[in-house]
Amino acid sequence: MKQGRIIVFSAPSGSGKSTLIQYLRSKIDNLHFSVSATSRAPRGEEQNGRDYYFLTPEEFRKKIAEDAFIEYEEVYHDKFYGTLRSEVQRQLNEGQNVVLDIDVKGALNVKRLYGQQALLVFIKPPSIETLRLRLEKRGTDAPEVIADRVSKAAFELSFAPQFDRIIVNDDLSTAQAETLQVVSEYLNP
Ligand code: ADP
Ligand code: 5GP
Repeated sequence: MKQGRIIVFSAPSGSGKSTLIQYLRSKIDNLHFSVSATSRAPRGEEQNGRDYYFLTPEEFRKKIAEDAFIEYEEVYHDKFYGTLRSEVQRQLNEGQNVVLDIDVKGALNVKRLYGQQALLVFIKPPSIETLRLRLEKRGTDAPEVIADRVSKAAFELSFAPQFDRIIVNDDLSTAQAETLQVVSEYLNP
């Protein structure tokens, strides 16, 4: 069977990545989300196995030792996130296309491993100030968590030129249409 392909989305937190991925999955069949593992605590309505596999730091370290991750990063201080080999490889082998929502360094590692089998899409906010406002409005994070995320944004934005495609998420419906076009072209050249 033909192997599936990987679409990687990265962006500073609050850029609208989850919103755009959700839209994409409602429009394209055979697109499956790879559930990552993390050592951070669940937030809001998040469910184990649906949003993340929530692991203790010890469990996470054990998985690293077992080589269970394609890639993993300490995205925020003491907060680890990793893409599970078991999730991704099974889906690709079954011919399913896989969406990853991972940080910028993880994205570049996936590209190194998968080459043309992976498309890297960077979602850019109109400005860092807009990002802060969106995170405040989303209302899921404490002020210090928001400050932490916003302070990382400039660093993350510096990785954008290394991505295959950059989409600015200013007007949502424009960004949705562009995302759909970019991904459709990649999956059905
Ligand atoms: P991320 O997954 O990148 O952290 P989200 O998808 O959760 O970001 O979006 C952050 C917040 O901004 C959410 O409350 C979302 O509804 C809102 N949002 C997303 N895109 C836009 C947009 N184009 N204009 C205004 N608000 C947006
Ligand atoms: P959040 O805590 O908001 O869910 O995610 C924080 C950051 O971790 C986001 O940039 C998200 O893309 C990234 N992330 C989520 N899962 C993974 C993963 O498996 N690997 C890497 N490298 N980053 C991840």
